[in-house]
This record gives sequence, structure tokens and C-alpha cells, in this order.
Amino acid sequence: MNEDPHLTFDINTPGLSTGHLVVPAGNDFETLAIPVVSLNKGDGPRILITGANHGNELEGPLVARRLMAWLPEAQTCGRIVIVPVLNPPAVRGSSRNTPIDGLNLNRTFPGRPDGSISERISDALCRVLVTEADIVFDLHSMGPPFISVPMVITHPISDPDLMAKTLRLGQSMKMPITLLWEHNETAGMFDSWVHGQGKIFICTEFGGGVLTLEDLNIYEAGVRNGLINLGVIDGKPEVPPYRQQKACQTLETLLVDKVASPLPGIFEPACSVLQIVQQGDIIGKVHPVDSVSSESLIIRSPSEGTICTIRTGSFVAEDQDLAIIARPVAT
Ligand SMILES: [Zn+2]
Repeated sequence: MNEDPHLTFDINTPGLSTGHLVVPAGNDFETLAIPVVSLNKGDGPRILITGANHGNELEGPLVARRLMAWLPEAQTCGRIVIVPVLNPPAVRGSSRNTPIDGLNLNRTFPGRPDGSISERISDALCRVLVTEADIVFDLHSMGPPFISVPMVITHPISDPDLMAKTLRLGQSMKMPITLLWEHNETAGMFDSWVHGQGKIFICTEFGGGVLTLEDLNIYEAGVRNGLINLGVIDGKPEVPPYRQQKACQTLETLLVDKVASPLPGIFEPACSVLQIVQQGDIIGKVHPVDSVSSESLIIRSPSEGTICTIRTGSFVAEDQDLAIIARPVAT
């Protein structure tokens, strides 16, 4: 018998309530119950916060836990639904993709009720919780191969009004960088689907290689600042320093700024985050694995800009990203 995805509780119950989002069983996996928290203080913005879309990005679940510690006291209005761990099988497997079907959950939206487990998770999320939200915060990090400045990221949105609202909310979080990221259209991303519903979607990207206290504090403060901007909590925005700096900048990275590895090999970084590079500056090398007589490949910056993200020393496959370089937004 097919059941529909559903919640085990009413998220409109006043105050704090908890339960599960039930993702029905399929051919590849049994019924999955994803923990959900609702904080309902009546009229106001309806907000959905999700963590661990990717299973090796644990900043989101930890920030969600921190929010749950003080939000019940601090919230003044609206309804905030938190899903700390959106993809439990991937977290258990410490993997970006869902181990059961090998899919990247963030390429399966809006999912399929009769699909594999990742597709059923995204279907349940979209049909049951996104329909109930005006604004979505999806808490990512760059994952282990990267070091990244804490950033709010949005892809360009065709609706100018939604673009402006998204950018304003992103900037209100006062992260070190708010990044407009031009990219080739990639099917099945959560943000594209939510934007298509006319709703605001905020994606945060963080540290990556290591999960530090400094990053977590900035991450938590950023979400808190965003919730202040939305009017669901009182308070003054805070800007914790990142690498001794308190600056907040809005930058954009274009397709021409993309830096991918032309060859497989071991990447050696030659620059650090927040460093400003000129076109042609060396940002790293890729060393061949199969030969010591082959030259290492020097990777140069395609443009002038700020290093937002750099791959840590690690094996890189052909065409994998090495860095995000961004420039001031053209006006
Ligand atoms: Zn992610």
C-alpha cells in the first residue's frame, strides 16, 4: 500500500512541538522518519530551516541544535520549522550523496513519490513542508575538500523582485561574504525549485575542511541576524570577526571566474581565503600521481578577485572545482 508523505504532528500547535516527517517506504528503503521541530508563535513569517541536505556537512545540524536552545524563548511571532538532519542516511554514512541510491539529494528536487530514497525525501519535503513556508534557509557547508569564507550564496534569479528580496535577506545576515553565483543551470537543485514557487531561499556555505568554533559562532550569528531582519526575534545583529576581520562584502562569481582542474592529480593550494589575486596569479598546482617525470600543472587565476573558497590539499578529479574567485558586483 502506498501512503503519502506526512507529518506525525501539527506544526500549527502553539509553542514548541516535535515530531517526524514520514517518508514512505519504497523498493530500496523502509519508511524513513525525519525529526522535525516547530516553533509557532502565531501570525508572521513562515520559515523553514533545513540542515544536512548533504551528509558530510555537519555545520547545519549543529547550528540547528544551537537555534533550538534559545529560539523558544526569543521568538516573538511567526512559525519556524526546523529539520536539523534532512538526510539521515547520508549523515550516518558521512557522505555527500545518499549511500542507498548514490544520488545527490540536492539534485533531486522536487523529487518523485515513486522514486528512490533521495527522490522520496525531496518529494516529502516539498509537498509537506515547503508548501507551508514563505522562506527557506538551507544550511550547507563546502564539505571536507574545501576551506571557505562563511558565505550566503544565491544563484541569479530571473524574477527581479524575488532576487532583490533574497539579496536583502542574505545581506542582513552580515556574513563575511554574500555571494551571487552565476552557474550553468543544474537540474534538481532545492533553491531553483523553491525560487520557482516565488519563495525566498537562502543558502549558506561554510568552512568545509574542518568544523571550527569560530565558523559555528559566525554561522549561528548569521542565522540569528536573518531572523531579526524577518522580525521573528528581537535583538541587534552581531558580526563575529572572521580571521580578525569584521567586513561584510557582496561579491559575484561569474562563469568566466570558474577554476576547475584540467587534469586529475594532487592539488597543492598556493593561496588563502580572503586573499586578493590578479588575473594570472598562481593559485595552486596539480601534481600527477602516475608519473614523476611529468610536469606539475600550474593553476592560474582566470580573473582578478577575492579568494572565497580554495580546495585543500587533496586528490582532485578532472574538471572538479579548485576555487571560487569573486569580484565586486557590477552596478
Ligand atoms: Zn551542501
